[in-house]
Amino acid sequence: MRMTRTVRCGSASVIAILLASASLSAQTKIALRQNSFKPSQDVQLGRQAAAEVRQQLPMLNDGPTEALVEKIGRRLVASVPGRFAQPAFRYSFDVVNLREINAFALPGGPMFLHRGMLQAARTDDEVAGVMAHELSHVVLRHGTLQAAKAQKFQLGALAGQIIGSIVGGTKGAVIAQGSQIGLGTYFLKYSREYEREADLLGAQIMARAGYEPRQMANMFRTIQQQGGNSGPEFLSDHPDPGNRYDAIIREAKSLKIAGAANTGPAFDSVHSRLARMPPAPTSQQVASTRQR
Ligand SMILES: [Zn+2]
Repeated sequence: MRMTRTVRCGSASVIAILLASASLSAQTKIALRQNSFKPSQDVQLGRQAAAEVRQQLPMLNDGPTEALVEKIGRRLVASVPGRFAQPAFRYSFDVVNLREINAFALPGGPMFLHRGMLQAARTDDEVAGVMAHELSHVVLRHGTLQAAKAQKFQLGALAGQIIGSIVGGTKGAVIAQGSQIGLGTYFLKYSREYEREADLLGAQIMARAGYEPRQMANMFRTIQQQGGNSGPEFLSDHPDPGNRYDAIIREAKSLKIAGAANTGPAFDSVHSRLARMPPAPTSQQVASTRQR
């Protein structure tokens, strides 16, 4: 009699354990792909391009804003699952004083957020959503994967082309002299397959960092709604992999948010600070000033 009870009790806890692990493993497994570049090459390419970005684009250089973005960024980097950690990578987080709702990250770690993105966001979780998505492209090394897949090229020639695709974009506002929209495009315009991975890993990183992953989906919706007539550049670089909103929400259901990030008050104060500044110029305005 006693023995039966013990067995029953034992199987109940086995079932409990199985249920617990089933709900944990429901999050999507994402794998690193074979990349013919070395991680140090990601770093080298990204560093060169970032130096050029800082020279060519109007940087905001506002202490409290930089501090907020840095704080969110560091928190997210610290929450990247161990199997994706890239010890060679050097992360940096800068704010560009441009009005468009945009953001981009370069191989090896440098990330740039447009002021327009910070002003369009309603919460720190929404900012973290865009940053976690960008960070996922970096740690999954999507930029160099796409470049390697595309064609053979000279490493040295590549960095110069990145800036062309950033500041030139698809809207023809070419700022960088002599740059072409070429291979650099592969660093910034991602395939739908890579988008799906960045959405899902981004959601996972957010939850680990104490952010609400559903707010990444909300931010993408905001970007879509505020894109204007020509469509937002962000979504042309980061195309919808299909059912984006629902897929992120579904992933979020499998995730447990670890603690609270507590960057909300700093976000609120930066948000009103930015609103009090003179409006950020558009890329077009910056481009026409440079061409004179
Ligand atoms: Zn993306």
